[in-house]
Amino acid sequence: MPIPETGCWLWLGGLDGSGYGMLSDELEQKAHRYSFHTFKHSIPANRVVMHSCDIKCCVNPAHLSVGTYRDNALDASSKGKLFNTSPWQAGTGSKMTAESVRDVRHRVIDLHESPVSVAKLYGINSSSISKIINGRTWRHIQ
Ligand SMILES: [Zn+2]
Repeated sequence: MPIPETGCWLWLGGLDGSGYGMLSDELEQKAHRYSFHTFKHSIPANRVVMHSCDIKCCVNPAHLSVGTYRDNALDASSKGKLFNTSPWQAGTGSKMTAESVRDVRHRVIDLHESPVSVAKLYGINSSSISKIINGRTWRHIQ
């Protein structure tokens, strides 16, 4: 179903939990990855297929490019996606990942960054930061 204004081809099949088009539940094959592979070339290992149009269920090969997970994160953050719709809701800290917990501890303990600025960076409040630092939360993360 092409949309004239953007040229996006919206996938009309099933979607996965994050809104990406799915070819089949069994294969967990993402429709945009399949499209890229079919119309352009194969996707190297450890690469993601990114959307220039930011429409997750778009399968127009002209809107798809291959990047690394890091590119994808940078792309998302440059578009304001990571911080505007931050999964780390202020105050809860419940969506912090092991990696971000380690980074928080590294910044505050090793680099002596202020807990307040680290809290801002992660979009959580500084009391969540101090809980992470003194091990009241995320104790299992070394
Ligand atoms: Zn598109």
